[in-house]
Amino acid sequence: MRVVSGMRPTGKLHLGHYFGVIKNWIELQKKHQTFFFIADWHALTTAYKKTADLQKNIEDVMVDWLALGLDPQRSCLFIQSKVKEHAELHLLFSMITPKSWLEWNPTYKDMKYNLLKLQEISLQFRGGLRDAVREFINMIPYKVEDFEKLEERMLDDLAETLIAALFEGEIEPDLLKKLNVSKREFYETDTYGFLGYPVLQAADILIYKGEGVPVGEDQLPHIELTREIARRFNYLYGEVFPEPSALLTETPRIPGTDGRKMSKSYNNAIFFADSCEEVERKVMGMFTDPQKLRKNDPGRPNICAVFSYHKLFTTKEQTEVIEKNCIAGKLGCVECKRKVLESLEEFLSPIRDKREKIKKDIKKVREIFSEGSLRAEKEARETISEVRIAMNLR
Ligand code: SF4
Repeated sequence: MRVVSGMRPTGKLHLGHYFGVIKNWIELQKKHQTFFFIADWHALTTAYKKTADLQKNIEDVMVDWLALGLDPQRSCLFIQSKVKEHAELHLLFSMITPKSWLEWNPTYKDMKYNLLKLQEISLQFRGGLRDAVREFINMIPYKVEDFEKLEERMLDDLAETLIAALFEGEIEPDLLKKLNVSKREFYETDTYGFLGYPVLQAADILIYKGEGVPVGEDQLPHIELTREIARRFNYLYGEVFPEPSALLTETPRIPGTDGRKMSKSYNNAIFFADSCEEVERKVMGMFTDPQKLRKNDPGRPNICAVFSYHKLFTTKEQTEVIEKNCIAGKLGCVECKRKVLESLEEFLSPIRDKREKIKKDIKKVREIFSEGSLRAEKEARETISEVRIAMNLR
């Protein structure tokens, strides 16, 4: 089976990336023909303003992929933007994709909802400010040619400033919660690129005639859209694309050091690039059962992040003993963390060493991905020429 998947270059990878994605990819590359790409164009759908670190982030991902065991002999590892055929197919698919399919995409709907809520807040601000603005304009010691226009402009500017202040927590931060508006960068994602990113995803998969796409449940609507685009294309121009299936895999949940989802933005992640001192600092500061204050207090391992780590890194027998002793109040959290640190380091230290070695020759790493990009391009060209013929674009 042909398997295709990509990852946005958001910088150094952490344990969450490994258990959520990479571990599965490593298994897939043993059994299938696999194409894994660094989705740098996708990174621009939301972070188009922050491209200064893009190349550095791409390098970090490349180094981590290789250190974790993605094998360029088994998998085609490449950079999305190096294969321009993704863009051509994206454009052609955008011609045949009804806008409503994209507007129903749950991620887009969330964003739209946020925008509507924002407009609502903006209107509230404007309503509250109108009298003051009028009074202000009347105080201007010059002749105002167009009162209404100036009033509107001032209201726009003030409402925008107040919304920015709201997000910065400078005014009534509870208002955001009450309105159920997330702090997502709304304005920045209300773009054509963001609306169309599932079409680019469809192109990413179908340009290689991907048959399987490893995804989490939240990505299922996107795969369904890819299938619909493939069906529509085949119906209009003749059979060219397979309808890819989602390869749903159960991934163990690894919480961040504070018990929430592991994420760089929560500052709770353990990175493969972390030194052992950094890992020790993070593990020793991990959240545990808040009711277990002393060693002899009985604990609840099922709600403790440290115990989740034991389940992943410590042997089954030892984990069972830890669970029993925690519940019975015979194990202190400091000792428990020391144990988990030991198991975690057994896992991390060979990866860290490999990472350091790989990083020393970044030119070679770049070459591996350039070669992969050429291989991918060869495949992509074959598909795009079939597409051109089918659409009479010869
Ligand atoms: S003893 Fe270990 S499992 Fe129990 S609460 Fe403390 S850290 Fe968590």
